[in-house]
Amino acid sequence: MSDVSSKQEAARAIEEASKISLVCHVGPDGDALGSMLALAEAAASHGKEVQASFGSPFVIQDNLSFLPVSHLVPPGDFDESPELMVLLDAGSPDRIGELAANAKAADKVLVLDHHVTNEGFGDIAVVDPGAAATGEIVYDILLLLDWPITPQIATSLHTALVTDTGRFQYSNTTPRTLEIASELIAAGAEPARIGQHVYEEVPFGYLQAAAAVLGRAHLDVDMSVVSSHVTEDDLSASGIGWADIDGLIDTLRLAREADTAVLLKQHSDGRVKASMRSRGRTDVGSLAAELGGGGHRLAAGFTIEAELGDVLAQVMSRLTSHR
Ligand code: 5GP
Ligand code: MN
Repeated sequence: MSDVSSKQEAARAIEEASKISLVCHVGPDGDALGSMLALAEAAASHGKEVQASFGSPFVIQDNLSFLPVSHLVPPGDFDESPELMVLLDAGSPDRIGELAANAKAADKVLVLDHHVTNEGFGDIAVVDPGAAATGEIVYDILLLLDWPITPQIATSLHTALVTDTGRFQYSNTTPRTLEIASELIAAGAEPARIGQHVYEEVPFGYLQAAAAVLGRAHLDVDMSVVSSHVTEDDLSASGIGWADIDGLIDTLRLAREADTAVLLKQHSDGRVKASMRSRGRTDVGSLAAELGGGGHRLAAGFTIEAELGDVLAQVMSRLTSHR
């Protein structure tokens, strides 16, 4: 579903605004940050006053810190009542953390997103689940605006595409995704440099944390589920932070015997953040939505305040009704 008229409406709102305040989802991944920074860069070079942020914790994972971050401000410095607030890659209002208050006070809210669980919110909502990444939607809007793709913008958008498609191998990869990637490389994105930053390096402590988490992985053959958990102690023992373990689920899910992978992240404040992946048999997006979260069919998550064992039990008891 490609919603051309609302992309045009979005382009018009961006063109008309003198100040644009951009926000992506908390704990930003390559698509959230890449799509936001690309639009920020483009708007700034067209005379707009621009600021970009995301809700606490205000930490960018090291693998993404090569992106052009000059327009980023901490959430505390974000405009309290923005003229035009653009929300990127956020499937629901709660995904932007404390900046939801700023969105409430904004003159106009524009939502650019591709999550299938997004029910549509904001004054203008471009929700295109057919887009592999929010970066694709931003690319289309830049085309509509006739704003040139500089090498920096190309780098941010290519990062968005690469990360949300798992390097162009997930089922969301379409001919259009590859056409856009081709245009971005022609415009100056360097796949080798991006890949090096995003995929080819981790802090040494990650290896130690991964060893602990994978060491306690559990395979439930009957339910076709592989699961594990990671605690704040695991991270502090290895000298790393939450932002460093985004890719850990990708190792856990390699277990051939399991359709579904579940990684529970136990925060010290009592919240558990669950990341789920499916090989295809399970719609983890609808399962996550039932538990107050969301995402895509094959990659989703939710955040809940409960004991680790109870969270896993909640997921297990719901699995069969999402297969
Ligand atoms: P990840 O497991 O990599 O954090 O997230 C996988 C997908 O699920 C992403 O598209 C992400 O936006 C979505 N997701 C993860 N956690 C949550 C959550 O707590 N709430 C919602 N609505 N979506 C989430
Ligand atoms: Mn995304």
